[in-house]
Amino acid sequence: MRILLVEDEIGLAEAVGAILRRESYTVDICYDGKSGLKSAMTGVYDCIVLDIMLPGMNGLDVLTYLRVKEIDTPVLLLTAKSETIDKINGLDCGADDYLTKPFSTGELLARLRALTRRRNAAPDINPKYGDITLDLKKGEIICGGDSVIVGRKEFQMLEMLIANAGQIVTKEMFVKKVWGNDDDSEYNNVEVYISFLRKKLTMLHSHVNIRTKRGVGYCLEKLS
Ligand code: CA
Repeated sequence: MRILLVEDEIGLAEAVGAILRRESYTVDICYDGKSGLKSAMTGVYDCIVLDIMLPGMNGLDVLTYLRVKEIDTPVLLLTAKSETIDKINGLDCGADDYLTKPFSTGELLARLRALTRRRNAAPDINPKYGDITLDLKKGEIICGGDSVIVGRKEFQMLEMLIANAGQIVTKEMFVKKVWGNDDDSEYNNVEVYISFLRKKLTMLHSHVNIRTKRGVGYCLEKLS
């Protein structure tokens, strides 16, 4: 689970970040609205915890922009004000839930669990594309009567490709979601894992192919 935390109060942001990491979430922190928006636009997060009062661009504007751009990541708004009007504005802008500061750790964690559960309970439990199905529980690729177990990174990458079928998944998106930081050295690993996946698709005699768009990324295609 990957969480984006956008909060300008450094002490609070770091404390919340530490709590979430202790709960095994991967956490990225942005301290202003514009950098928060830039990170959120990648679409790689399972949930965004977004403060309303932020320097540069406020949380409601960030949220509005995300929804206009069809980024549907669940958003938990943090508000220092308890006025009903802010809650209504926030929900109107496309927030999934809100939390009024000061909040307890337990409450934050419970809201996050609810939001990420709702998202993961989406109908596409076992993603499918062409002749392949991903078994999320077993970590297998199924094709016809055959199946093959794949490593966690490969599996996540194929899941991303299926979720973005018809579109290109860039190396940057893979690195951010699967490796979880901006370390350039990981870029070569993307190619390595893609080649593992291709071998497995070939082993399964699948008609699904991972096509390389040179210098851009990868996308799935069905070979006839
Ligand atoms: Ca603030």
